[in-house]
Order: sequence, then C-alpha cells, then structure tokens
Amino acid sequence: MKELELYVHIPFCVRKCCYCDFLSMPADNSLRRHYVDKLIEEIRQNAPACSQYQVSSIFLGGGTPSILPGVQIAEIMEALRQNFTIGQEAEITLECNPGTITRQKLVFYKMAGVNRLSLGLQSARNQELQRIGRIHTFEEFLESFDLARKEGFSNINVDIMSALPGQALEDWMFTLKKVLEMRPEHISAYSLIVEEGTPFYEQYGEDELRRQQGETPFYLPTEETERQMYELTRETLADKGYLRYEISNYAQPGRECRHNIGYWQLTPYLGLGLGSSSYLEQVRFFNTSSLEEYLDGKFHNLTEILEMAKKQGKDLRSARSQAKTDICLLNQRQQMEEFMFLGLRMTAGISRKRFEEIFGRELESVYGNTVRKLQQQGLLKQNEGRVFLTEEGISVSNYALSEFLLEVEEIEDCSL
Ligand code: SF4
Repeated sequence: MKELELYVHIPFCVRKCCYCDFLSMPADNSLRRHYVDKLIEEIRQNAPACSQYQVSSIFLGGGTPSILPGVQIAEIMEALRQNFTIGQEAEITLECNPGTITRQKLVFYKMAGVNRLSLGLQSARNQELQRIGRIHTFEEFLESFDLARKEGFSNINVDIMSALPGQALEDWMFTLKKVLEMRPEHISAYSLIVEEGTPFYEQYGEDELRRQQGETPFYLPTEETERQMYELTRETLADKGYLRYEISNYAQPGRECRHNIGYWQLTPYLGLGLGSSSYLEQVRFFNTSSLEEYLDGKFHNLTEILEMAKKQGKDLRSARSQAKTDICLLNQRQQMEEFMFLGLRMTAGISRKRFEEIFGRELESVYGNTVRKLQQQGLLKQNEGRVFLTEEGISVSNYALSEFLLEVEEIEDCSL
C-alpha cells in the first residue's frame, strides 16, 4: 500500500492571539459539535478514494484541538480508524494549549490512540505571554505538561517563539532554560513573523518594515538580535542533546516529528477540515475556508478530484466548478521546486538519487548552475549523494531557497 499522511483541522480557539493568522476562531459548544459532525461526514465521504493507501501519521492541528471535549476527539479518531487503513506504528499527534487540557481529556486522547502531544507554550515569561495575547500562564503550561506525563505521554513537543516585541536575548535564554528543565522530546522554535491582518500588524507593522530594511526597530528585536537568538537556540539545545533536523525544529535522537518529515519529503497527504490543504497524485487542493460553506457540506470530494487529475490540463480547469474546491495540478517543474524548497529545510537536505527516481533526470541537468553558485557562496554543500544548506545557508535560507525557483516563463500557469 502507498503511504499517506492525514491532517485534521480543528479551527477553534478560546480567543485569537495577537500574532495569529491561522484559520481559527472562537466558537460556542453547539457550533463545535456541528463542525465535528461535518468533519466525520467528510472523513466518511473521502476515505473510500484512499483505499490503496496506508496512513503513516495523523496530525490533529488547529486552532486548538484540545478545546473540544475529549469524547469528540475520540469520535473523530474512531471515524478515521473505521474509514482509513491506519498503520500499527502510525504517529498520532494532537495539538494542545495550556488552559484547555484536563486529566479527563488526556485519558480520552490515550484511549483514542493519540501517542504524541504538541503543547503551545511560546514563552516562559508571563509578561510576554500576556503581550502576545496567549490565554495561559507559564505555571498553567507546567501543570498541563505534568498532567500529560502522568497520563503516560512519553512523546511531547513544546512550541516556543523568539523575536517577540520587547524581548531581549536574556529573556529568550530564560525560556530556553525553563523548557529544557521539562525535557520534552521535541522543541519547535520559530521566530515571530508580523503578518498582515493581525492585531500585531497594526501595532508593529511599521516596525517590521524598519527591521526588514535594516533599520533599528522600536519594539521588535533587531535583525542582529534575532540572528543571535537563533544561534543561542541551536547551541543551547545541542548542548542538551537536541539535534536540529530542520531549520526551526529540534529533537532528541529518534524523536523527530515523522508527520513533518513526510511533509518536507513530499509524502502524499490528505487534509480534512476547514481550509485544509492536500497533496495527492500530483494534485494540490484546498478545502473551503468559509465555515458557512463547510457546515453546508461543501467540502472537497476526493473521488471527483482524483478523476479530474487523471484527465489533467484543460479538462481539470473545466471541472473545477463541480469540485467546489480550489485545485491545482502541479507540473513537473513545480514539483521539483517543492522538492528542493521543502527538502532543503531539513539539515540532512535532499538526496540526488531520490530526485532522479522521482523526476527521471539528474539534479545537475535542472539545478546544476544554482547548486554551483550557492556552493561558491558557501551556502550549500554536497556529501555522499546529498545536497544541504551550510550554517551560513541556513542563516539566509529565504534567499538560498528562492534560488531554486525556476524561471517563471518556464512554468505553465497552474492557477485554475
Ligand atoms: S492558539 Fe494558536 S491557532 Fe489559536 S489563536 Fe493562538 S496562535 Fe492562533
């Protein structure tokens, strides 16, 4: 059977954090119940088209999945088990936020087969948590983490965020130290991006612009401080046995997130739930991001989409309206770009052999000049058939990765 990853989106949160541009919103109990019913309907409707796939990982993300009653998570998991073939060793992650976890919920997760938790902490300083609009304190995080351990969760990720407004290097070090005391198996450490459309953009949008232009921002850490925070993270975590396996992800040996690795290696995945994206049989498609439409049952129909994909090209264009979803058939160049873009985020980089297996041509024939140029600039290295970013390359990863975009005129239009 072919490998498949599942992503299940729960778009509800207690309230919006100031920096958040994810598809999430507050909702009352009846709306959440209605959503879970529709989600189960979508699972039942789409699973038959995946009969030749075995699920290797499931990620219940959001939003805040732990906002749902434990029994509803169990219902979703039950629907997945009844309708998909799930591998015995599948990694099953659930995203939780402190302040929404109870012992009873954790018992439900365990019974439902969840074997990995991802806890959103962001900062160990309560003042920072307040400033970014989180609903919880550091003490509540500690309580949730302890509860999870007591209920037998032995694979836990903690999300933390650097470059927060007013944050100094010492503040970031404080968060790193506090998290390390808990010994989670995995740590995701991203820096804040001030996204348009968020309350933070109103507050710090101009500051972000100053920072990008190399000027000194008023509230956000400077580019140089941000770089130092990144270095501090890498060194401090390495010192405690956490290997950086992706630009922003660190794990104890063997505890890397298999779901994310699959995503970076272009393993097919099916997204279920509001606004989720999928990538299957070279087709990328998106569920509606309108809650009203979703609750009306206007989610993607996988059988229909895969049939359309077989027809390809203009037939795919004409069939779009029936699908009630956005679909995009990736041509080979776009697949190559994604292979490089996502694969080079991992410290192990990409395999030349794998590139040849997938695309039937040598990496050299497509990216020879780019690889040579980045190598000369000291941003890329090659070793034992693998190509990967150097430390210098990682620090300017946006630039280095953008070099793998192929000439626009060479790409067929895919916006259908
Ligand atoms: S908890 Fe996460 S998804 Fe929810 S509002 Fe905050 S950042 Fe967004």
